[in-house]
Amino acid sequence: MARNYYIAGNWKMHKTRAEAAALAKELVEALKDGKHKYLVAPGFTLLETVAPIVKGTNILLGAQNCAVEEQGAHTGEVSVLQLKDLGVQAIILGHSERRHNYREDDALINKKVLLALKHGFDVILCVGELLEEREQGRAEAVCERQTTEGLKGVTAGGLSRVTIAYEPVWAIGTGKTATPEDADAIHGSIRNVVEKLYGGAEAAKIIIQYGGSVKPENATQLMAKENIDGALVGGAALKADTFVPIAKFA
Ligand code: PEP
Repeated sequence: MARNYYIAGNWKMHKTRAEAAALAKELVEALKDGKHKYLVAPGFTLLETVAPIVKGTNILLGAQNCAVEEQGAHTGEVSVLQLKDLGVQAIILGHSERRHNYREDDALINKKVLLALKHGFDVILCVGELLEEREQGRAEAVCERQTTEGLKGVTAGGLSRVTIAYEPVWAIGTGKTATPEDADAIHGSIRNVVEKLYGGAEAAKIIIQYGGSVKPENATQLMAKENIDGALVGGAALKADTFVPIAKFA
């Protein structure tokens, strides 16, 4: 079944407002004839700057995280209500930096997924194994657990707003990329998990992005694989020169 490619840029904790505005404008111009689905996820303080630049274009506005509670006494957190108010359309959840540096576990990530869906956001749910888990032959099992737990309580209707991003932790920001074959194998196993949970039709539709040192040089080979439906891009998303060729891969 044909799935649309979905290329997302995670800007992480980079850029000032002026830099973010400049990059967003470059991307709007360069991708206006792009054939795929696009998203940029600037840091929280940049969202208000980038929102009017991408509004009405083919680039969605994403956030990199949200609080697990709707509102209240949660110093330093950012709520879904505040993100909605800024025009954010999608939220990246369960990124490996959140899982491993900020100790977010499957249960917390699942609560955030449910909250984001309840408030009408699309979700990019990130899963992926650590290097030692891969070396122990546990990559598939880890991704199966993270997918199953992350999607707990998500209805089939909700699933239609979920994208899964497979990001092997050892490949993020390291310059090491999973081979297209290895990545495709994990993507296939994640699709099987979705099939077990929701049935074949939903599994055939779900978009599974690959993330981990995606560059202009490797995007085409990765995207050629049957089960790889796009990319979640970190480092290479910070410049139009590197993001645009990925977003327009041939
Ligand atoms: C990411 O952070 O989601 C990511 C994939 O980063 P990079 O492309 O830099 O490996």
